[in-house]
Amino acid sequence: MLADSRSTRTSSALSNAPLTLRDLDHIGLERIKGIGDKAKSSLESFGVFSVLDLLETYPRRYIDRTNMATLRDLQLGVDTLVMVRVEKCRSIQTKNGRVMVTATVADETGKLSLTFFNQRWREKQLQPGIEIAVFGKAEMYNGYRQMTNPVVDRIGDRAARFVPVYPQSEKSRITSWDLARWIEDALAKCEPRGIDDPVPVSLLESHSLIGRHDALRKIHLPDSTEDHREARQRLAFDEVLRVQLMLVGRKAQWERESAGFVHTTKGHLIDGFMSALPFPLTGAQKRTIAEIYKDLSVGKPMHRLLQGDVGAGKTLVAVATMLTAVQGGHQAALMAPTEVLADQHALGIRALLESLKISDEGNLFGDRGLRIELLTNKVRAAERKSILAGLADGSVDIIIGTHALIQEAVKFKSLGVVVVDEQHRFGVQQRSQLRDKAQESDSGLMPDVLVMTATPIPRTAAMTVYGDLDVSVLDELPPGRTPITTSRVSGPLERAVMWESVRERLAAGQQAYVVCPLIEESEKLEVASAQETFDELVHGELNGFRVALLHGRMSSADKESVMSSFRSGETDVLVATTVIEVGVDVPNSTSMIILDADRFGIAQLHQLRGRVGRGKLASQCYLVTQHSDPSPRVEALVASTDGFVLAEEDLRLRGEGTIMGVNQKGTSDLTLASLQHDLELIQWARDDAQRIIADDPTLKTLPVLRDELDLLFSDEDEEFLFKS
Ligand code: ADP
Ligand code: MG
Repeated sequence: MLADSRSTRTSSALSNAPLTLRDLDHIGLERIKGIGDKAKSSLESFGVFSVLDLLETYPRRYIDRTNMATLRDLQLGVDTLVMVRVEKCRSIQTKNGRVMVTATVADETGKLSLTFFNQRWREKQLQPGIEIAVFGKAEMYNGYRQMTNPVVDRIGDRAARFVPVYPQSEKSRITSWDLARWIEDALAKCEPRGIDDPVPVSLLESHSLIGRHDALRKIHLPDSTEDHREARQRLAFDEVLRVQLMLVGRKAQWERESAGFVHTTKGHLIDGFMSALPFPLTGAQKRTIAEIYKDLSVGKPMHRLLQGDVGAGKTLVAVATMLTAVQGGHQAALMAPTEVLADQHALGIRALLESLKISDEGNLFGDRGLRIELLTNKVRAAERKSILAGLADGSVDIIIGTHALIQEAVKFKSLGVVVVDEQHRFGVQQRSQLRDKAQESDSGLMPDVLVMTATPIPRTAAMTVYGDLDVSVLDELPPGRTPITTSRVSGPLERAVMWESVRERLAAGQQAYVVCPLIEESEKLEVASAQETFDELVHGELNGFRVALLHGRMSSADKESVMSSFRSGETDVLVATTVIEVGVDVPNSTSMIILDADRFGIAQLHQLRGRVGRGKLASQCYLVTQHSDPSPRVEALVASTDGFVLAEEDLRLRGEGTIMGVNQKGTSDLTLASLQHDLELIQWARDDAQRIIADDPTLKTLPVLRDELDLLFSDEDEEFLFKS
């Protein structure tokens, strides 16, 4: 079937049908006027291999001819863009052996000289008579106005109002002007057959989007800003639609192909758990549990993301989810990213479930307590053996662990629910490994998967990064929390005031965290610096208090004993590297001091801060910086405690790259579309993709669109297309 569809594709290149993206991808660069062997290999080094790639090289910006400064109005010392003609150009060798190219340029109102150092090729570029756009600062030199090393774009003689400026690469010597000419020729060559539009007209009409061919013409050669807006909108929509079709299609495939458990969400175990809770559920917890239970009670495996800010109460939702499996006689697993967090979960979850009983015929009393085990790499051989046996024979109800859970030796009797905490630490691959493991179990059924993350992701990004998961949002903190006061601390005086106030609270019996500077390059250096910080504090600001050090290079046993003495209040202050980032829950801790805070990212700072403010006591977070100039990230934390607001801010500050960089494929295909600005487009595309896939899961009725996905995504991503 694969071979079939591929052969029909190639044949269309011979016909007179409108050109598809695959046709364009089959057309070599040598067909374009002006592209010889040399230009071809330069383009290839640039990532442009075909006419399709060429057409998808979009202008970086446009020069508006009607909006240019004239040389008469040129102000000295101010960056300005002028459009001028080259009058003459020459190169000379300076006394100290450098090459200097100078050119005289002019418009109707005056003249200007340009000087370039060590750019001999400029002499070739700046042929007398050509028109160029020049961007730079003019200064007076020997009585003349001069720009040194300005940015130059060749414009040529095109009369259009807007001149596209393409990304240029000095190394490959491809200029914006070259690209403009080649792309113009490519567009001209597409005219006779036209460029195909695979998106159903009804969709385009409902969103008032222009046709694809028109959009490609207008993105390169707009006559107005409106042209450009329409073109960008359409081409960006194509990008997000393709990504959504891929994500939604893949999700549909999983659901189609795998049989899941039908869990019972009512019963004495769950009822008992709910009624034993010492507090009422928050509205968000109720809603989220209802969403999850709806998924659990049908035979389609759940694949859901639970997003909730630190302290929102995700653990409880996770437990409520796992209990449905246990109630039905199956098992549940919780995978955490670190040993400290796995320990913490095991402690917390055992406490929550202590009083619960499950019916057991084989037992004299007709029931038994739940068997909850912790499996990490530090578990000793004998105990490990017993846990593994318990997992295999079904006597372990809930297993909590690190990635040790996905190791070879682990076999489940019947794994019904998997909860993965803090997903950004695991790859997508590890998640699916755990699912695969479950399928090896006796039932052969696919477990329901709940992924929890405390890193809020802006809605647009979530639809893309987690586009193959359903999303629940825990957007309400349990009542009774006292808001955290965050302040930036720099300079010795402010630091002294901070320590004074920390000591007061310690003296009143409260506890504190000190997070040591992050040294990403080396854990060894980081540990050394943590040790140093610890020594300084013990003999200095925190003299007389019980201070402990926790870092990633300590043995598991040592870590555990440090943590447990902090939990029990035997230690006042925990000086730690970022190992405490996740999951530590000590409500009596009211001070969080983060040293060199400007080295951390927003999400990380937010996580760390979330370790305080967990009880009734008012908490303080101090972001200590060496420099007194403000860091935008630190300022963001001072301004807001809302994880979603911070996530938006993070996206704004970092740009998109980093968010998409987290191990996600397929999403790098956004060139024009922006997760930050195109919320509406992404929402449209998501809705459209869901409707399309619901009617036609493998896109049989939209063969050209289907072929585009095949062309543009990796095999793994678009596997669903070839399954029926
Ligand atoms: P998260 O994992 O989302 O950061 P946790 O599950 O660790 O948050 O919960 C944080 C704290 O809030 C815990 O001490 C927990 O017992 C408490 N908690 C959870 N739900 C509620 C609730 N509905 N009312 C009061 N406290 C709650
Ligand atoms: Mg948690």
